[in-house]
Amino acid sequence: MTTMIAPSPVMTPDATPGRLALLAAAALLAPGTMLVQHLRGAGAPILSGTIVCALLFLLVLARMAGLVQAQRIAAITDGLTGLRSRGYLTQALHTETARSVRSGAPVAMLLLDVDHFKTVNDTYGHSVGDQVLMEVADRLRRLVRPGDLVARYGGEEFAVVLPGTDLTEARLVGERVRRGIAAAPIAVGPGRLRTVTVSVGLAGIPDPCLSVDDLVLAADRALYAAKHAGRDQVASAV
Ligand code: GH3
Ligand code: MG
Ligand code: MG
Repeated sequence: MTTMIAPSPVMTPDATPGRLALLAAAALLAPGTMLVQHLRGAGAPILSGTIVCALLFLLVLARMAGLVQAQRIAAITDGLTGLRSRGYLTQALHTETARSVRSGAPVAMLLLDVDHFKTVNDTYGHSVGDQVLMEVADRLRRLVRPGDLVARYGGEEFAVVLPGTDLTEARLVGERVRRGIAAAPIAVGPGRLRTVTVSVGLAGIPDPCLSVDDLVLAADRALYAAKHAGRDQVASAV
Protein backbone atom coordinates (compact mmCIF):
# COMPACT_ATOMS: atom_id res chain seq x y z
CA MET A 1 0.00 0.00 0.00
CA THR A 2 2.85 2.40 0.92
CA THR A 3 4.65 1.60 -2.34
CA MET A 4 1.51 2.13 -4.37
CA ILE A 5 0.66 5.56 -2.97
CA ALA A 6 4.25 6.85 -3.06
CA PRO A 7 4.55 9.68 -5.62
CA SER A 8 6.34 8.70 -8.80
CA PRO A 9 9.79 10.33 -9.22
CA VAL A 10 9.14 10.91 -12.94
CA MET A 11 6.77 13.45 -14.55
CA THR A 12 4.78 10.87 -16.50
CA PRO A 13 3.33 8.18 -14.22
CA ASP A 14 5.49 5.12 -14.73
CA ALA A 15 2.75 2.55 -15.32
CA THR A 16 5.21 -0.32 -15.85
CA PRO A 17 3.86 -3.88 -16.17
CA GLY A 18 5.25 -4.62 -12.68
CA ARG A 19 3.43 -1.71 -11.07
CA LEU A 20 0.20 -2.53 -12.91
CA ALA A 21 0.45 -6.19 -11.83
CA LEU A 22 1.01 -5.08 -8.21
CA LEU A 23 -1.97 -2.73 -8.41
CA ALA A 24 -4.16 -5.45 -9.94
CA ALA A 25 -3.11 -8.00 -7.28
CA ALA A 26 -3.84 -5.50 -4.50
CA ALA A 27 -7.22 -4.62 -6.02
CA LEU A 28 -8.20 -8.30 -6.25
CA LEU A 29 -6.95 -9.24 -2.78
CA ALA A 30 -10.05 -8.25 -0.82
CA PRO A 31 -12.71 -9.68 -3.19
CA GLY A 32 -10.50 -12.79 -3.67
CA THR A 33 -10.29 -13.36 0.09
CA MET A 34 -14.05 -12.90 0.42
CA LEU A 35 -14.65 -15.39 -2.41
CA VAL A 36 -12.38 -18.01 -0.84
CA GLN A 37 -14.11 -17.59 2.52
CA HIS A 38 -17.50 -17.87 0.84
CA LEU A 39 -16.47 -21.05 -1.01
CA ARG A 40 -15.19 -22.54 2.26
CA GLY A 41 -18.59 -21.86 3.80
CA ALA A 42 -17.25 -19.29 6.25
CA GLY A 43 -19.02 -15.93 6.62
CA ALA A 44 -17.31 -13.28 4.49
CA PRO A 45 -16.27 -10.03 6.27
CA ILE A 46 -18.67 -7.88 4.24
CA LEU A 47 -18.04 -4.53 5.98
CA SER A 48 -14.22 -4.56 6.02
CA GLY A 49 -14.13 -6.17 2.55
CA THR A 50 -16.38 -3.45 1.12
CA ILE A 51 -14.29 -0.67 2.68
CA VAL A 52 -11.02 -2.14 1.36
CA CYS A 53 -12.52 -2.65 -2.13
CA ALA A 54 -13.83 0.93 -2.21
CA LEU A 55 -10.47 2.35 -1.11
CA LEU A 56 -8.57 0.35 -3.69
CA PHE A 57 -11.05 1.34 -6.39
CA LEU A 58 -10.54 5.02 -5.53
CA LEU A 59 -6.77 4.52 -5.52
CA VAL A 60 -6.85 2.97 -9.00
CA LEU A 61 -9.13 5.77 -10.21
CA ALA A 62 -6.75 8.42 -8.85
CA ARG A 63 -3.75 6.77 -10.55
CA MET A 64 -5.63 6.51 -13.85
CA ALA A 65 -6.75 10.15 -13.65
CA GLY A 66 -3.11 11.17 -13.08
CA LEU A 67 -2.05 9.10 -16.07
CA VAL A 68 -4.70 10.62 -18.34
CA GLN A 69 -3.77 14.15 -17.23
CA ALA A 70 -0.06 13.50 -17.83
CA GLN A 71 -0.82 12.11 -21.30
CA ARG A 72 -2.98 15.15 -22.08
CA ILE A 73 -0.19 17.53 -21.07
CA ALA A 74 2.41 15.49 -23.01
CA ALA A 75 0.24 15.69 -26.14
CA ILE A 76 0.20 19.49 -26.13
CA THR A 77 3.79 20.05 -24.97
CA ASP A 78 7.02 19.97 -26.95
CA GLY A 79 9.34 17.45 -25.31
CA LEU A 80 12.58 19.40 -25.74
CA THR A 81 11.60 22.97 -24.91
CA GLY A 82 8.44 22.59 -22.81
CA LEU A 83 6.67 25.01 -25.16
CA ARG A 84 3.27 24.18 -26.65
CA SER A 85 3.33 21.64 -29.48
CA ARG A 86 2.54 22.36 -33.10
CA GLY A 87 -0.76 20.49 -32.76
CA TYR A 88 -1.82 22.74 -29.90
CA LEU A 89 -0.76 25.80 -31.91
CA THR A 90 -2.96 24.77 -34.85
CA GLN A 91 -5.94 24.29 -32.54
CA ALA A 92 -5.33 27.65 -30.86
CA LEU A 93 -5.03 29.37 -34.25
CA HIS A 94 -8.41 28.00 -35.28
CA THR A 95 -9.96 29.22 -32.04
CA GLU A 96 -8.35 32.65 -32.26
CA THR A 97 -9.13 33.22 -35.94
CA ALA A 98 -12.77 32.18 -35.41
CA ARG A 99 -12.96 34.60 -32.48
CA SER A 100 -11.36 37.30 -34.62
CA VAL A 101 -13.80 36.79 -37.48
CA ARG A 102 -16.73 36.92 -34.99
CA SER A 103 -15.63 39.94 -32.99
CA GLY A 104 -13.56 41.85 -35.52
CA ALA A 105 -10.63 41.94 -33.06
CA PRO A 106 -7.28 41.42 -34.72
CA VAL A 107 -4.99 38.44 -34.19
CA ALA A 108 -1.40 38.17 -35.35
CA MET A 109 1.24 35.47 -35.47
CA LEU A 110 5.01 35.44 -35.59
CA LEU A 111 7.01 32.65 -37.18
CA LEU A 112 10.64 32.54 -36.06
CA ASP A 113 13.54 30.55 -37.46
CA VAL A 114 16.99 30.39 -35.86
CA ASP A 115 19.59 31.71 -38.30
CA HIS A 116 22.34 29.37 -39.47
CA PHE A 117 21.36 26.80 -36.85
CA LYS A 118 22.90 23.96 -38.83
CA THR A 119 26.29 25.62 -38.20
CA VAL A 120 25.63 25.44 -34.43
CA ASN A 121 24.99 21.69 -34.68
CA ASP A 122 27.92 21.14 -37.02
CA THR A 123 30.34 23.15 -34.86
CA TYR A 124 29.36 22.20 -31.30
CA GLY A 125 27.34 19.00 -31.71
CA HIS A 126 23.66 18.11 -31.64
CA SER A 127 23.25 18.16 -27.84
CA VAL A 128 24.66 21.71 -27.63
CA GLY A 129 22.24 22.52 -30.47
CA ASP A 130 19.44 21.19 -28.25
CA GLN A 131 20.60 23.40 -25.36
CA VAL A 132 20.62 26.42 -27.65
CA LEU A 133 17.04 25.63 -28.70
CA MET A 134 16.01 25.37 -25.02
CA GLU A 135 17.61 28.75 -24.25
CA VAL A 136 15.96 30.39 -27.28
CA ALA A 137 12.61 28.95 -26.10
CA ASP A 138 13.16 30.32 -22.57
CA ARG A 139 13.99 33.77 -23.87
CA LEU A 140 11.00 33.69 -26.19
CA ARG A 141 8.70 32.78 -23.30
CA ARG A 142 10.02 35.70 -21.26
CA LEU A 143 9.79 38.19 -24.14
CA VAL A 144 6.06 37.87 -24.84
CA ARG A 145 3.01 38.87 -22.78
CA PRO A 146 1.22 36.36 -20.54
CA GLY A 147 -1.78 35.94 -22.89
CA ASP A 148 0.38 35.19 -25.94
CA LEU A 149 0.96 31.61 -27.03
CA VAL A 150 4.48 30.37 -27.73
CA ALA A 151 4.92 27.06 -29.55
CA ARG A 152 7.68 25.06 -31.17
CA TYR A 153 6.63 24.90 -34.78
CA GLY A 154 9.22 22.29 -35.73
CA GLY A 155 13.04 21.80 -35.70
CA GLU A 156 14.49 25.25 -35.02
CA GLU A 157 11.29 27.13 -35.82
CA PHE A 158 8.98 28.72 -33.27
CA ALA A 159 5.60 30.42 -33.48
CA VAL A 160 3.89 33.04 -31.33
CA VAL A 161 0.16 33.79 -31.50
CA LEU A 162 -0.75 37.31 -30.42
CA PRO A 163 -4.49 37.64 -29.74
CA GLY A 164 -5.96 41.15 -29.97
CA THR A 165 -2.83 42.45 -31.69
CA ASP A 166 -2.74 44.25 -35.04
CA LEU A 167 0.16 44.19 -37.49
CA THR A 168 1.69 47.42 -36.19
CA GLU A 169 1.85 46.13 -32.60
CA ALA A 170 2.92 42.68 -33.80
CA ARG A 171 5.89 44.22 -35.55
CA LEU A 172 6.93 45.85 -32.27
CA VAL A 173 6.64 42.48 -30.51
CA GLY A 174 8.60 40.83 -33.34
CA GLU A 175 11.37 43.42 -33.00
CA ARG A 176 11.43 43.01 -29.22
CA VAL A 177 11.72 39.24 -29.58
CA ARG A 178 14.40 39.47 -32.25
CA ARG A 179 16.49 41.90 -30.20
CA GLY A 180 15.89 40.00 -26.95
CA ILE A 181 17.14 36.71 -28.36
CA ALA A 182 20.29 38.24 -29.86
CA ALA A 183 20.90 40.49 -26.83
CA ALA A 184 23.17 38.14 -24.89
CA PRO A 185 25.30 35.33 -26.30
CA ILE A 186 24.35 31.75 -25.41
CA ALA A 187 26.73 29.27 -23.73
CA VAL A 188 27.81 26.59 -26.20
CA GLY A 189 30.41 24.92 -24.02
CA PRO A 190 32.71 25.65 -21.07
CA GLY A 191 33.72 29.29 -21.48
CA ARG A 192 32.36 29.41 -25.01
CA LEU A 193 29.60 31.80 -26.05
CA ARG A 194 27.80 32.35 -29.31
CA THR A 195 25.34 35.03 -30.35
CA VAL A 196 22.25 33.45 -31.85
CA THR A 197 19.90 35.43 -34.06
CA VAL A 198 16.43 34.72 -35.42
CA SER A 199 14.54 35.83 -38.49
CA VAL A 200 10.87 36.64 -37.92
CA GLY A 201 7.92 36.58 -40.30
CA LEU A 202 4.63 38.10 -39.18
CA ALA A 203 1.09 38.04 -40.46
CA GLY A 204 -2.26 39.05 -39.08
CA ILE A 205 -6.01 38.92 -39.34
CA PRO A 206 -8.23 40.63 -40.47
CA ASP A 207 -5.76 41.97 -42.99
CA PRO A 208 -4.66 40.40 -45.29
CA CYS A 209 -5.77 36.83 -44.48
CA LEU A 210 -8.90 34.93 -43.57
CA SER A 211 -8.19 31.26 -42.85
CA VAL A 212 -5.62 29.65 -40.55
CA ASP A 213 -3.82 28.16 -43.53
CA ASP A 214 -3.65 31.58 -45.18
CA LEU A 215 -2.32 33.11 -41.98
CA VAL A 216 0.43 30.51 -41.53
CA LEU A 217 1.32 30.68 -45.22
CA ALA A 218 1.58 34.46 -45.06
CA ALA A 219 3.81 34.30 -41.95
CA ASP A 220 5.95 31.67 -43.67
CA ARG A 221 6.33 33.85 -46.78
CA ALA A 222 7.25 36.80 -44.57
CA LEU A 223 9.84 34.65 -42.78
CA TYR A 224 11.32 33.66 -46.11
CA ALA A 225 11.51 37.36 -47.04
CA ALA A 226 13.32 38.11 -43.74
CA LYS A 227 15.83 35.34 -44.49
CA HIS A 228 16.26 36.52 -48.05
CA ALA A 229 16.85 40.10 -46.88
CA GLY A 230 19.83 39.00 -44.80
CA ARG A 231 18.45 37.30 -41.61
CA ASP A 232 18.25 38.74 -38.06
CA GLN A 233 15.27 40.87 -39.04
CA VAL A 234 11.47 41.06 -39.00
CA ALA A 235 9.39 41.04 -42.16
CA SER A 236 5.62 41.20 -42.51
CA ALA A 237 3.19 39.72 -44.99
CA VAL A 238 2.12 42.16 -47.65
P1 GH3 B 1 18.79 29.38 -42.05
O1 GH3 B 1 19.43 30.61 -41.52
O2 GH3 B 1 18.52 29.47 -43.51
O3 GH3 B 1 17.55 29.02 -41.30
O4 GH3 B 1 19.84 28.21 -41.88
P2 GH3 B 1 19.75 26.96 -40.93
O5 GH3 B 1 21.11 26.36 -40.87
O6 GH3 B 1 19.15 27.32 -39.61
O7 GH3 B 1 18.67 26.11 -41.69
P3 GH3 B 1 18.57 24.59 -41.97
O8 GH3 B 1 17.11 24.33 -42.23
O9 GH3 B 1 19.53 24.24 -43.06
O10 GH3 B 1 19.01 23.85 -40.66
C1 GH3 B 1 18.17 23.62 -39.61
C2 GH3 B 1 18.86 22.60 -38.76
O11 GH3 B 1 18.17 22.40 -37.55
C3 GH3 B 1 18.95 21.24 -39.42
C4 GH3 B 1 18.49 20.26 -38.38
O12 GH3 B 1 19.39 19.20 -38.24
C5 GH3 B 1 18.48 21.08 -37.11
N1 GH3 B 1 17.52 20.63 -36.14
C6 GH3 B 1 16.19 20.45 -36.32
N2 GH3 B 1 15.62 20.04 -35.17
C7 GH3 B 1 16.60 19.95 -34.24
C8 GH3 B 1 16.64 19.59 -32.87
O13 GH3 B 1 15.63 19.25 -32.23
N3 GH3 B 1 17.84 19.63 -32.23
C9 GH3 B 1 18.98 20.02 -32.89
N4 GH3 B 1 20.12 20.05 -32.20
N5 GH3 B 1 18.97 20.34 -34.18
C10 GH3 B 1 17.80 20.33 -34.86
MG1 MG C 1 14.27 26.15 -40.47
MG1 MG D 1 17.22 28.13 -39.46
